[in-house]
Amino acid sequence: MPELNWLTIQEARGLLARREVSSVELTRACLERIEAVEDNVRSFITLTPELALAQAEAADGMLAEGTAQPLTGIPVQVKDVMCTEGVLTTCGSRMLADYVPVYNSTAVDRLFRQGSVMLGKGNMDEFAMGSSCENSAFHPTHNPWDAVRVPGGSSGGAAASVAAGESVYSLGSDTGGSVRQPAALCGVVGLKPSYGLVSRYGLVAYASSLDQIGPIGRSVADCALVFSAIAGHDPRDATSLPLSVADFSSELESGSDLSGLRLGVPVEYFAEGIEEGVRRTVEQAIETLEQLGASVQEVSLPSTKYALACYYIIAPSECSANLARYDGVKYGYSDQEAADMWGAMEQTRRYGFGPEVTRRIMLGTFALSAGYYDAYYLKAQQARTLIRQDFSEVFKTVDALVTPTSPVVAFPIGEKIGDPVQMYLIDVTTLPVNVAGLPGLSVPCGFSDGLPVGMQLIGPHLSEPTLLRIGHAYEQATEWHKQRPPL
Ligand code: GLN
Repeated sequence: MPELNWLTIQEARGLLARREVSSVELTRACLERIEAVEDNVRSFITLTPELALAQAEAADGMLAEGTAQPLTGIPVQVKDVMCTEGVLTTCGSRMLADYVPVYNSTAVDRLFRQGSVMLGKGNMDEFAMGSSCENSAFHPTHNPWDAVRVPGGSSGGAAASVAAGESVYSLGSDTGGSVRQPAALCGVVGLKPSYGLVSRYGLVAYASSLDQIGPIGRSVADCALVFSAIAGHDPRDATSLPLSVADFSSELESGSDLSGLRLGVPVEYFAEGIEEGVRRTVEQAIETLEQLGASVQEVSLPSTKYALACYYIIAPSECSANLARYDGVKYGYSDQEAADMWGAMEQTRRYGFGPEVTRRIMLGTFALSAGYYDAYYLKAQQARTLIRQDFSEVFKTVDALVTPTSPVVAFPIGEKIGDPVQMYLIDVTTLPVNVAGLPGLSVPCGFSDGLPVGMQLIGPHLSEPTLLRIGHAYEQATEWHKQRPPL
């Protein structure tokens, strides 16, 4: 029998259903693995072993009764940006270092209703702002493939825990790439759903028009299972689409034949700034997709050049509004020393927020201020429309796009943290997807200098079935997603 902590959801599900393994055994295997490697990985902010074992026992009960669902008894790590009832939810920030929510976010609630087992809460860049997990107020996370390197961000803990064999799958959130980019840098699969498909209720807000929760797993099929569990209408999120839940796994039955599928390769995503090893690896993956029957053509998305600037106006603007709630009165940290109310608010925010969050709030406040609104925020919204139109245009001729997920492989901890613009530039390949509200899937497609490379599949709004089908077909033909780090 393989080591239990390395199973995919699908493998674990089979063993649990046949009662060859219990959820308690599976959970113990993950907890032992965490014990063995967590000092080197540091993917968790909070561990919840007692909760996990209690949930595992309950799951074994469901399995015995015959009421099990696809995720019953399977251990998950949840990014610390999602509210969990009775369990610390810090958002990687001093501001929320002691915050214990009284309710579960909808995505977590849906996992728990299926009988999932939560191992703990995942490390992240503070309030999900960052691309390396170095902006956590607590500690950085290390890439399981090379501990001196970052795991990507902001869902760095979520990707690293799956890659290190600590959890079977995880939930992350993606505002500009935070599920896909760390998945790529850690050699695992990550799905950013279409905007509106997964409820944002109980997801601590960063930029509300861009935020989506998404799964990270060891295979496309695993991500399809988790996505099926968390997607679907929720009246508590005003932007939740009125669609019922589909079973996205059934899309994968067509195997590895991609004939009839039209793929586009956007030239702008292979331009300057893409590492040579990444380019070569993704080009080889495109050849594989062609061998599986897909037709491939070069396409152009000319407004891509505005995407980075557009995102880095819109996201900070929304962040400056969303983070106004941390005033020392309603949530979290509260300074008690100041002489008056304004002083207390200032001191609370000065201590509670780290440098990157402070920078974003200032940028956003500036972009929204009278006199600058038209020049920055309004312009960015106009650019957003152009970017959306580019995608709509190109999807008249192709079914999906293939690009590198990240222009670079995992970089050394400390290399970019002193230069915010260098850090922002890494998001150039992922954030147009959020700006346009589209789904994006990152699938491991090889290595460059011994470090994982991810290929990104982008499709029209609600085209998850197509993306999952392509990713799954690719996995049937390759072994990249089965590689394990020598940790
Ligand atoms: N790196 C991007 C940012 O810092 C995206 C983060 C995210 O998707 N949460 O805003």
